[in-house]
Amino acid sequence: MRIILLGPPGAGKGTQACRIEEKFHLPKISTGDILRRAVREGTPLGLKAESMMKDGLLVSDDIVVGLVEDAVGREECRRGYVLDGFPRTISQAESLTRIDGRRPERVIEILLGSEELARRLAHRRVCRTCGAIVGSEDSPPPGGDGGRCPVCGGALEVRSDDRPDVIRARLEIFDAQTAPLREYYRSRNAYHSLSGNGTPEEVFGRISVLVEGFLGGAAEERRS
Ligand SMILES: [Zn+2]
Repeated sequence: MRIILLGPPGAGKGTQACRIEEKFHLPKISTGDILRRAVREGTPLGLKAESMMKDGLLVSDDIVVGLVEDAVGREECRRGYVLDGFPRTISQAESLTRIDGRRPERVIEILLGSEELARRLAHRRVCRTCGAIVGSEDSPPPGGDGGRCPVCGGALEVRSDDRPDVIRARLEIFDAQTAPLREYYRSRNAYHSLSGNGTPEEVFGRISVLVEGFLGGAAEERRS
């Protein structure tokens, strides 16, 4: 079983991917994580990616696809995995099918409106010194504005990405980019969506019901 999480930045995909990993023992593969790991370990793809980033370039598609291919080939992913941050384009989705086409795939999109997202991100602050992100929907950072980073004591500021006008623009871009992916997976009967409103527990409750259904269905197919 391969589960692909879609959702706008701020919808909590990373958190939900971790919970799926814990409960269903499907390792989380996040492109950000595997890219950083490849760079740290100095793998051939990691070295290529590092030199592109040093030149201020975006890491190219073939490198990202290569990293995902390495990751899903690992022994721990034998039973399946959860993807966070990949695929982002039809071309990447097709690459994924080519890499690992036999495994059943299911897409879960976490839907969230821009107002909810803005509300959720309104309290979030980033530390100017160490980059830690602190505060969330219901728990503003200790000390509020002008507060100090709990990690290093540095000054906190609103992430430039978290301003309401920027959030709206980010969501529009995300939506336009995601529309073709939705169609791609709909046509393969693999697309599902659910509301991202509520607490992380509530959202995970909805995700769990879906994933249990997926896994039950896959077991059913094997028996028949
Ligand atoms: Zn800090």
